[in-house]
Amino acid sequence: MEHEDYPEDFEQFITRFTTEQDCYDYILSLRWPQGFVCPRCNSERSWKTKRSLLVCSECGHQASITAGTIFQGTRKPLRLWFHVMWWMMSQKTGASAKNLQHTMGFRRYETAWTWLHKLRRAMIRSGRDRLKETVEVDETFIGGVEKDAKGRKTETKTLMVIAVEVEEKKLGRIRFRIIPDASAESLIPFIKENITPDSVVITDGWLGYAPLKKENYEHIVQNISQSKDNGSELLPHVHLVVSLIKRWLMGTHQGAVSQKHLADYLDEYAFRFNRRLSTHRGKLFYRLMQQAVSTEPTSRQEIVS
Ligand SMILES: [Zn+2]
Repeated sequence: MEHEDYPEDFEQFITRFTTEQDCYDYILSLRWPQGFVCPRCNSERSWKTKRSLLVCSECGHQASITAGTIFQGTRKPLRLWFHVMWWMMSQKTGASAKNLQHTMGFRRYETAWTWLHKLRRAMIRSGRDRLKETVEVDETFIGGVEKDAKGRKTETKTLMVIAVEVEEKKLGRIRFRIIPDASAESLIPFIKENITPDSVVITDGWLGYAPLKKENYEHIVQNISQSKDNGSELLPHVHLVVSLIKRWLMGTHQGAVSQKHLADYLDEYAFRFNRRLSTHRGKLFYRLMQQAVSTEPTSRQEIVS
């Protein structure tokens, strides 16, 4: 069993990370929980330079503690990054760039925006365990706002598929994917990648789900024509989550999420949602940190384009 080492509350957090060295040590312990092993000669003996380098005692190979993490090449103190991550995880309704800029006193809005996107990229890796037992699946359009060539804002709709685990009529974990269309070619791979075989999959009568009967699932079709209920009562859990996401996009982000970045925001939403019952703030911070140290850095350029 992995030992989970994290500050449980803000007091422990500020006591633990008082210097840059504290932050480097923490990253080191998360990246190499069994201790550093030289990638060149496999030696387990190394020493640490004053800051961010590990030097192999056998062959002299140097490894940067932050290379290959989202912190690679940052000119800002790691303590600031840690603070922002703690802050981001303690925002119950999610974090917006405007909010972050204001809270941390960043001079430029772009800095706050880029940081949040780098952190959202780290959330993508989250929760590779597939959903199980009973899962509702449906596809829906979700709004985004785009600027057209003349700089006017126009609303555009993006299609996404959503899966919601149902545990004794309560919401379990969720997964999303933005899809080009509602064909079986878009829907079935999403289901196979996100739901454990032998689970019960509940959908509406759309033909795109029909091939599910050839797969290893128990497929339950809720048919609109067979009941007087409208769509939201056929798949109530999916529809509840969709309305929560829409409210979040309109509230925290004031509807200003572009289609291009919608997937990143949905990842953040799923990350938070799937951990909403965690008792400690610190645990969310820990999960985000674990992923941040195993996520290749993305430049602002890559995020924007
Ligand atoms: Zn070596």
